[in-house]
Amino acid sequence: MDSLQPDFEKLNGLLPAVIQDAYTKKVLMVGFMNDEAFNKTKEEKRVTFYSRTKERLWTKGETSGNFIEVKSMALDCDNDTLLIQAIPVGPVCHKGNDTCFGDEPNTSTDLGFLEETIQDRKNNPKQESYTNSLLNKGINKVAQKVGEEAVELVIEAKDDDKTLFLNEAADLMYHYLVLLAAKDFKLNDVIEVLKERHS
Ligand code: AMP
Ligand code: ZN
Ligand code: ZN
Ligand code: ZN
Repeated sequence: MDSLQPDFEKLNGLLPAVIQDAYTKKVLMVGFMNDEAFNKTKEEKRVTFYSRTKERLWTKGETSGNFIEVKSMALDCDNDTLLIQAIPVGPVCHKGNDTCFGDEPNTSTDLGFLEETIQDRKNNPKQESYTNSLLNKGINKVAQKVGEEAVELVIEAKDDDKTLFLNEAADLMYHYLVLLAAKDFKLNDVIEVLKERHS
């Protein structure tokens, strides 16, 4: 992130910054940064814009508490637009919506957010988390957990307790994704196999 050099001269001092949710990939909002806002954002890992209406630096969330934490920053091909992958701590839009673009496409079937969290844990093995405690036990142990959760799901399938069934379904899916990560595979690798079978 330190080597980013926006072309502020070409931009008359204001860099457009696209804020994207790091997990859901939704576009959350767009704002402008002057040099100072850009550097503050980089240093604090929290989004600060230059507000043209307020005519001052504006840290998003400064009154609402709905800050936007920065995960990564990248410039486009010609250094005149910034893309920030971020984690919003609350609704980004002052109208209470998750994004300033109203109703974004439903991503409820998209497992990318979970896969990315698991990958994150794997990349930081010293960080304490259930995922890491599992990964640190090795592939065999993770695979065994998948087996256990599958059996639990089979048991719940015989019952009609919806909550228990859904919870076991979630457990299985989560452990399945951890196993894929442990084996250095992506969910997309599996999807490719399925698509190929289909064609
Ligand atoms: P906040 O930065 O969330 O504390 O909000 C402070 C003020 O900034 C609000 O009262 C709004 O006027 C404005 N504001 C906050 N979020 C947005 C947004 N996503 N888009 C436009 N204006 C916003
Ligand atoms: Zn550009
Ligand atoms: Zn808004
Ligand atoms: Zn379970």
